[in-house]
Amino acid sequence: MFNVEKIRQDFPILQRQVNGKPLVYLDNAATSQTPQQVIDVIVDYYSNFNANIHRGVHTLSQEATDKYEAARQTIQKHFNAKHAHEIIMTAGTTHGINLVANGFSSLLKKEDEIIVSALEHHSNIVPWQMLCEKTGATLKVIPMNTAGELIMNDYDRLLTKNTKLVFVNHISNALGTINPIEAIIKKAHQVGAAVLIDGAQACPHIKADMQALNVDFYVASAHKMCGPTGIGFLYGKEAWLHKLPPYQGGGEMIADVTFEKTTYADLPHKFEAGTPNICGGIAFGAAVDYMNNIGFAAIEKYEHELLEYATAELQKIQSLKIYGTAKNKTSVISFNLEGIHPYDIGTLLDKMGIAVRTGHHCAQPIMNFYDIPGTVRASFAFYNTKAEVDALITAVKKAQMMLS
Ligand code: PMP
Repeated sequence: MFNVEKIRQDFPILQRQVNGKPLVYLDNAATSQTPQQVIDVIVDYYSNFNANIHRGVHTLSQEATDKYEAARQTIQKHFNAKHAHEIIMTAGTTHGINLVANGFSSLLKKEDEIIVSALEHHSNIVPWQMLCEKTGATLKVIPMNTAGELIMNDYDRLLTKNTKLVFVNHISNALGTINPIEAIIKKAHQVGAAVLIDGAQACPHIKADMQALNVDFYVASAHKMCGPTGIGFLYGKEAWLHKLPPYQGGGEMIADVTFEKTTYADLPHKFEAGTPNICGGIAFGAAVDYMNNIGFAAIEKYEHELLEYATAELQKIQSLKIYGTAKNKTSVISFNLEGIHPYDIGTLLDKMGIAVRTGHHCAQPIMNFYDIPGTVRASFAFYNTKAEVDALITAVKKAQMMLS
């Protein structure tokens, strides 16, 4: 039984006040809050078994290694990867994307083409532009419509025998659109292209199944799903991870080093040079467990109710425009009030204890499409309530009165 009041007790930060008002945290798409269960794991790590992993014979090192590798298996099971060694621990989504882009720089030729979508975060645009500059390959873009959906007929036309890679986010951070990644992956495979899906926004809402999706690469960040910052994962199909050269050289990623030649370690260590974020990895596993204990079906259902309620209530406000009205979307609402800069609304909302994001949300091409400087973005998590939606509505109305 989904009990939001009980769930809220797990999050100490939700008890605090901001500017003398109870915090209403609606910036979950930027980063999620951390439950006590995950905070406890972080404290436990540094209190009881802090040690470097994979190389120590002593007890602390063994314990830390076991917990870190257990976390990798938790992530593997949650995302249904076939093997634990297909889960590469990264510093986050951006790191995972750059790791793949860097690997492909030695595999692409001048005549090759790569495809991104109009709905991407900058971290899924810039590394591919850099890759094109290095290799001479061409970057093509799947366009979007005014509802914030990808135009799939155009995608069909962009795919050619020269397409080598397709990169699309599972869910848009700026608009909340859930992209038809199953169809995108299938069509890319028909022309022999590999697909990387950016799951940064999907991981707190949807349990993505690597084997069912038949995706080549999938990346996400722990901090979007109740875990700490500075840790995430890259899933790669085993065959692809064998094919890609390592991203960084250093300790932990080698089999044998001489000045004449170095051979690399097996997966996943080939891509994990240096001392990793050990505590972060273990806490990531705890965050995955925490969310699964609540259950993704219950989370999806509850967040959808919040989305529908908030959308209906916001639409009642005069001169308020919502951007991104896709049929298939998650609990993100981007909006503007006519004649008022989003930054001014965000600043006033903060004075009333309400945390929202304002600006281009690292997705300038989407803002350019709508010809706006940015939006106010309210993004809801499973620990938000209808009362918090009501507080948002009251505060937006107040801000509108003050600013117009
Ligand atoms: N892609 C999307 C869709 C995102 O929302 C974000 C985070 N805002 C990122 C990539 C980058 O994630 P990180 O900053 O954790 O690397």
